[in-house]
Order: sequence, then C-alpha cells, then structure tokens
Amino acid sequence: MAENLEAAKECLTAYLTQKKLSKTPARYKILEFIYSLNKPFNAELIYEQLKGSYRLSLATIYNTLSIFLDSNLIVKYHYDGQTSLYYEKATDSAFHHLIVCSNCGMVREFTDVRLRNTIHARTYKGFKAIRHTLTVYGLCNKCSKKIKNTNK
Ligand SMILES: [Zn+2]
Repeated sequence: MAENLEAAKECLTAYLTQKKLSKTPARYKILEFIYSLNKPFNAELIYEQLKGSYRLSLATIYNTLSIFLDSNLIVKYHYDGQTSLYYEKATDSAFHHLIVCSNCGMVREFTDVRLRNTIHARTYKGFKAIRHTLTVYGLCNKCSKKIKNTNK
C-alpha cells in the first residue's frame, strides 16, 4: 500500500527488483499518471491520455497494470454496473477500515485491499454500493493492561 506517489514508486521499484523485471520509464510514467487521477481508470483511458506525449502501446499498459495489481498498487473492480473492468489507486480514502478501542476511544485506520475488494465486489439487490466503512471494536494494549491490573 502506498500513501503517495513517492511511496508508490518505491513500492514499484522493490517489486520489479524482487521479480527481476526491468525498471522501464514507461512503468513509472503510467504510475505517475495514475496517481494524478482522482477517478477510476482503465487501460484505454491511460492510452488516450498518454499517447500524445509518450510512445506507449496498449499492450505495454495492460502489462504494466497487471504488475501494479500484483504489487497491490491498484485494485480492480466493475465500475458503475459496466461490464468492463476498471482500476483504482489502492489508497482511495472513500474506503475506511478502523479499529476503535471501546474503553478509551482510540481510533486507528488500517488498510486491507483484499477485504475492501470483497466488500465492494458484492452486489446488493436494488442498491449500488459507493463506499463503505468498517469498524472493529476492541481494547487497545494500554486499556487491556489496565483492566487486567484492576481485576487482580
Ligand atoms: Zn484503549
């Protein structure tokens, strides 16, 4: 998971190194473009937007998107009831997963792309899901220690 473009680039570099894939400028260009977007995208959209300034084939874009998917930089889903697949940055803040301490109220955000996709890929009868929040309640370390001590 990457919070910004710099982190995403580092993540991509680490992935390419690990998989012994070449670090072509095209891959980083596409990543930059994706991070400049604030909406879902697909290969055709990237191609249309970038073909004027870079020499990219659709095949390169498809190949790059599958690398991004595999390295969890993006997620894919069916957008707005359309049959074609769309992609999205894995950082979209429309999806919140939180852990909350029931005792002191501590709130922390966590990210789980797989969980997010599972919820989002689900269909609801007569209803279109746009975003979701998921809250897990429990006790933070501090509070569970405190409670253990007072129970002694
Ligand atoms: Zn607490």
